[in-house]
Amino acid sequence: MSDWNVQVGEAVDRMEERLRDVAKDIFEHPEVKFEEVRASKRLAEELEKDGFEVELGVAGLETAIRAAHPAVGDGPTVAILGEYDALPEIGHACGHNLIAAGGLGAALAVGSIKSELPGRLLFLGTPGEEGGGGKVLMIEAGLFEGVDAAIMFHPSTNTTIGRGSLAITEVKIEFHGKSSHASGSPEKGINALDAVIQTFNGINAMRQHIKDGARIHGIISDGGVKPNIVPEYASAEFYVRAQENDYRDELLEKLRKCAEGAALATGARLEFGLVGHSYKAMKPNKVLGERFLKHLEANGIPYNPPKDKSMGSTDMGDVSQAVPGIHPYVQICEDDIAGHSRPFAEASDSERGYAAMLAAAKAIAMTAVDVLTEAGLVERIWEEFNAG
Ligand SMILES: [Zn+2]
Repeated sequence: MSDWNVQVGEAVDRMEERLRDVAKDIFEHPEVKFEEVRASKRLAEELEKDGFEVELGVAGLETAIRAAHPAVGDGPTVAILGEYDALPEIGHACGHNLIAAGGLGAALAVGSIKSELPGRLLFLGTPGEEGGGGKVLMIEAGLFEGVDAAIMFHPSTNTTIGRGSLAITEVKIEFHGKSSHASGSPEKGINALDAVIQTFNGINAMRQHIKDGARIHGIISDGGVKPNIVPEYASAEFYVRAQENDYRDELLEKLRKCAEGAALATGARLEFGLVGHSYKAMKPNKVLGERFLKHLEANGIPYNPPKDKSMGSTDMGDVSQAVPGIHPYVQICEDDIAGHSRPFAEASDSERGYAAMLAAAKAIAMTAVDVLTEAGLVERIWEEFNAG
């Protein structure tokens, strides 16, 4: 540990009350994707207070933040990321309040000694992770250009660094048939709901033959109006996920074939569309991840990887494919609790949750210091990234 590492750790300790207050404030005022007005304003204010040059409302997103520390030198650029959107109904059941305050704490801690350090320090506030793809839009707007290391953490039921995330695409299929009296003149109708059901059956038949770890899951979003009317319109939505971007695309084509087959069989007309978000698979940078883990363990949180390998999807996947990045998981509760659940929301406002957030803030700050100051480290990070 360098002196600077010690100093950023102490800086996080000094701002403990402030960070807890930010995390609790965001927890108690949950805002869903792209409506994080209060949270983004609070983060922007805290960054400004400590001298960061803050732009709120970047990449065409009202609640996205780019904050740069004014002390700029030659050397690498580190971006510390914060998410702050909540889920509908169940609030901060993904713990993004802890991500926001932990990332803020790390950025302020490194900022407190930045005048002594080379390189550049950024805090990027990335809204709309839950289905909005805020980071994808921020990448497209060029906000990650020049970044050598993008660092965040995510609260979880385990502590691990290498876990990936699945590539995901959201699909909407719609069938247009023909209404008629379901009993009086069924032969005159074309049943759009049957086409949806055939699509589900086709997909279910395909399941045996898809790679482990891939996921296709859907709902019927419109299934008709009344049993005595042959449904003239029906629709379904699916998420298609896989460990590799290419395989996700392959599954998407297979799903399209299932829907086309159903259209052919029923006579309904198919409209097939990609909607919402499409995220890339995660490419966690090991050099960065191992450094983070070392510092996390030194701050009292042991490595505790999950037994199973199931994964979700996140727009950090896209960041990790654009620049070297990490999205390590830090345990805030026991692993019989599910993410996106009410008990996980409780954990995101618990003593254990806040303690994990503070340890993660220190580990991120120390990792950032290493990237900025340690000779050869940024080269190794890029070497691994470029190797694939
Ligand atoms: Zn999340």
